[in-house]
Amino acid sequence: MPVHVFQTFTYKLPENVREAAQPGMRILIPLGRSLIAGYVVGLHNELPADLDVTEVEIKEASSLIDEVPVCTPEILQITKWVADYYASPWGEVIKSALPPGTNPAIREAIRITDSGHAKLETIEEDSSLEKQILLELIHRNTLSKDDLSHVAPTHQLIRTLREMENRGWITWEKVQGHAPVKTKLRRVVGLRQPLTDIESERLTEGQRRVLDLMHDGSQLSVQELAKTASVNVSTINSLAKRGILEFATEHVRRDPFSSPVRDEPEHYKLTDAQTSLLEEIEASLTKQEYSAFLLHGVTGSGKTEVYIRAIQRTLALGRSAMMLVPEIALTPVFSQRLRAHFGDQVAIFHSSLQRGERFDEWTRVKNGEARVVIGTRSAVFAPVRNLGLVVVDEEHESSYRQQDSPYYNGRDTAIVRAQKESATVILGSATPSLESFQNARTGKYQHLALPERIGGRPMAEASIVDMRKVFARHGKPQVFSDELLEAIRTTHDRKEQSIVLLNRRGYSSFVLCRSCGETIQCPNCDVTLTYHRTERVMLCHYCNHRQPAPSACLACGKKFIYYVGEGTEKLEELLKELFPSLRIARIDRDTSSRRRQFEKTLTDFSQGRIDMLVGTQMLAKGHDFPNVTLVGVVSVDAGLALPDFRSAERTFQLITQVAGRAGRGDRPGRVLIQTYHPYHYALRHACAQDYEQFFNEEIVYRQNHSYPPFVALANLLIHGNDLGRVRSDALEFRRELDKANSERLCRILGPAPAPLARLKGEHRFQILIKSHSRRQVRTVADAALKSIGDRGLNLRSFNLEIDPLSIM
Ligand code: ADP
Ligand code: ZN
Repeated sequence: MPVHVFQTFTYKLPENVREAAQPGMRILIPLGRSLIAGYVVGLHNELPADLDVTEVEIKEASSLIDEVPVCTPEILQITKWVADYYASPWGEVIKSALPPGTNPAIREAIRITDSGHAKLETIEEDSSLEKQILLELIHRNTLSKDDLSHVAPTHQLIRTLREMENRGWITWEKVQGHAPVKTKLRRVVGLRQPLTDIESERLTEGQRRVLDLMHDGSQLSVQELAKTASVNVSTINSLAKRGILEFATEHVRRDPFSSPVRDEPEHYKLTDAQTSLLEEIEASLTKQEYSAFLLHGVTGSGKTEVYIRAIQRTLALGRSAMMLVPEIALTPVFSQRLRAHFGDQVAIFHSSLQRGERFDEWTRVKNGEARVVIGTRSAVFAPVRNLGLVVVDEEHESSYRQQDSPYYNGRDTAIVRAQKESATVILGSATPSLESFQNARTGKYQHLALPERIGGRPMAEASIVDMRKVFARHGKPQVFSDELLEAIRTTHDRKEQSIVLLNRRGYSSFVLCRSCGETIQCPNCDVTLTYHRTERVMLCHYCNHRQPAPSACLACGKKFIYYVGEGTEKLEELLKELFPSLRIARIDRDTSSRRRQFEKTLTDFSQGRIDMLVGTQMLAKGHDFPNVTLVGVVSVDAGLALPDFRSAERTFQLITQVAGRAGRGDRPGRVLIQTYHPYHYALRHACAQDYEQFFNEEIVYRQNHSYPPFVALANLLIHGNDLGRVRSDALEFRRELDKANSERLCRILGPAPAPLARLKGEHRFQILIKSHSRRQVRTVADAALKSIGDRGLNLRSFNLEIDPLSIM
């Protein structure tokens, strides 16, 4: 069932659906007083022995929703794996694998009972309201109240129905209604048969125009046809009446591609490096066995071209392909490129599609019409048949991780799916995650490298600006170093473009009263509110709480309000003051909530109508702007200081990615990174663009401190409104874990307040479980959760996260 429970349920199938039922179909089952759409995941011929209920105790299911399974066997299999591995409810995982809005609505209906039948025999008076109602019910199996509105006024009808129910002549029951999302149909007309000579002679001018449009066998909607032929709809109807035209219904495809124009695909001659690694991939595709590749190629090295060739090869072998990308922002870019090559074979999946579009794309994949799927995380559950290739681009990205229940990692799920379906998987990145690179070292993945940019373009030259020296020089903190300002100036003198990055949106990070020291905290979370100047609000970046910006201190009432720290909004303002002649635009979550606006800014920048982009990490991803020769990173120090074992890895990735935006065209690029930690290894190696050196240092740190990839990690979050309760639950849980861990195969840390100790009004404690044995982590956690559940504690306040990406 698509609810938060960790088990399957057994129901008796009604006689009339036993033949038809198959795993993967949806079925209506009673839950409390309502009906709910569940999924058939297995069928038994007799009661399974391990079920501790008797046959009479088993409830009967209501009716099947589907005529063919909505879940293919592959989807059942992979969702089951996700449910088991990530300790998520299977029903919730299946639900997120299917297009939303396709479950039928449940409505109330009236049915006649046996005593109703008997009663009908005895009522003689034809005008009796009861008799009319009972007669209607005999004609049609069930009726809604509205179906009966013609027999009596509403209040009288309701009263009568209630009496009839009390007497036992009718019953109310829940029945299946329509789903909100379904196939879109339209009525079209077409030519039924060629005209006889006599018929052609008797046509009016208007009728002739209509038929001329139909001669090539095309089908048009009535409105379209009437408009094109400039006739009235009645003209078309009369032709239909004479049997010359006929009506039909036709599927309308809701196409998520914003622009119907399709670019011509580029046909490059592959470089030697591309050719040789494509050969290895093709060999694996031809074998049709599972194998995994890590395609480690610097930005602009031609990875995407390799993916496209591999997809071509997959299709030629008669199989299908799937490509995952981290962000919605990247899908239009990639999908246009894929569509140029593969046309309507491409289906696109991401969360900002409309429900109808999503349903249609899903249907095209399920029917086998579309054999190339591109999409974000949840596209891993696309009902692709005969999967031959899975590509996970930018495999290190944290957006592959779903952050709420059901938790799963789209990349890891993709790898397992490829394994189960004997497909080839390619993980691509310029900065592979530590896990993946380690897997390549140990031989679990084959390592493929594209160490150079296409056309031999040099990587941008990156250097660190030591902000401690800048401070000393000026005697006070500076947002921009003299070096960065000078670089911006010369870049624009040369009519080139620049990007300025700061990974913090808003105007200033917090507000301080200089008189009493008061700061403004979120009422729901353990963080200060961020000032957003355009909207004049204080905003919580975790729970979205907003309140007006104060004009005086909320504590002491004095007007010494002071805004501390800079966000992207303030950078934009400062830069506009410093460089009034520059056209500057900002890209962050505040400016790009509207997709149109976001796409327009990127287009304007790429066509030279904007000189400089200021923004957050959204700028670092995938874009290709050949005229950008300068990237300035204002600060990464906050990211480096996060109490999380991945903070160095994240910072390294961010800098390498954003540096990859510079110098993609003919002119060389330059990157400046401002920091108060100039000797940090993540920064030094990112500047040298030396992934392996970074890996070598980072992997030692992970090993020494027992972090992934050397141990399996689980994070257990205990949360709730009452601090005392949360703390005692956490301690209780720790005791249960210790009992389950009697062999000491796991290391258990905590409970400790989570780094964000309060979030959205809830207190949070966390416990970390580490072990060299992945199985052991689960055994211990599951045993503890079970005894907690057996003792009646609410399991919803215990969140088990397997392989957490961050432990914040
Ligand atoms: P990546 O995915 O590694 O960032 P892309 O595949 O996008 O790299 O390639 C970078 C640029 O080089 C793109 O503009 C692409 O069209 C071009 N390109 C890729 N392969 C070739 C090739 N063999 N010859 C010429 N240009 C190429
Ligand atoms: Zn908040």
